[in-house]
Amino acid sequence: MKYKRILLKLSGEALMGDRQYGIDPQRLAEYAQEIKQIHDKGVQIAVVIGGGNIFRGVAGASNGMDRVQGDYMGMLATVINGMALQGALEDAGMQTRLQTALKIEAIAEPYIKRRAVRHLEKGRIVIFGAGTGNPYFTTDTAAVLRGVEVNADVILKGTRVDGIYTADPEKDTNAKKYNTLTFEDVLTKGLNVMDTTAFTLSQENELPIIVFDMNKAGNLVKVCEGEAVGTTVNV
Ligand code: UDP
Repeated sequence: MKYKRILLKLSGEALMGDRQYGIDPQRLAEYAQEIKQIHDKGVQIAVVIGGGNIFRGVAGASNGMDRVQGDYMGMLATVINGMALQGALEDAGMQTRLQTALKIEAIAEPYIKRRAVRHLEKGRIVIFGAGTGNPYFTTDTAAVLRGVEVNADVILKGTRVDGIYTADPEKDTNAKKYNTLTFEDVLTKGLNVMDTTAFTLSQENELPIIVFDMNKAGNLVKVCEGEAVGTTVNV
């Protein structure tokens, strides 16, 4: 395996499957199987999951809600998704721990870096919930932050698009996919990989990002084996 310890970022919206909101149990089970394939091959797996399928702070704010209040609601949404993923992973036979940036002791451990690393070393899948624990941040930033903290080899951003394109491939049929890019390329070409805070943190810490299609069976294992799937952003 090319990567021994990964930080997998899944968006909340990915969990919706074909639904308009919420969680599709079928999609969750599929993701659990994808994750099991790399777990069986000995990859240490940390996961950060978004909350956009349930609540986004910005959406609340645009409807007149206090932004900070909305962001905390968004963070709680990521905990709900984390719990759902935890259940699906355990149903598939893996050991897991959910650690949250906001303390919710009845259902999750508080985030403790050393403890998270220990879980990873023991082959437990660690899900990080509640983002960074701070409003005005995103789960992409949480993913890079946790990835840097636990010394992940790479951030794997699982999306429904198979990489980074010259333009939005869902809108522009002439859009071309990049196989590799440098952090510098992304900035000079003005490409949208992650929000600026997340992207800068990754660049400063030289932590590569791979954007790939998580909905294609077998892709996650291919990425971990080092196959040229998706788009890799590196120094
Ligand atoms: N959020 C936050 N701080 C964080 C991470 C998330 O306030 O560190 C809130 C924010 O309101 C965001 C919501 O949680 O809109 C859901 O996260 P995100 O939009 O990143 O999820 P995704 O788009 O990946 O589903």
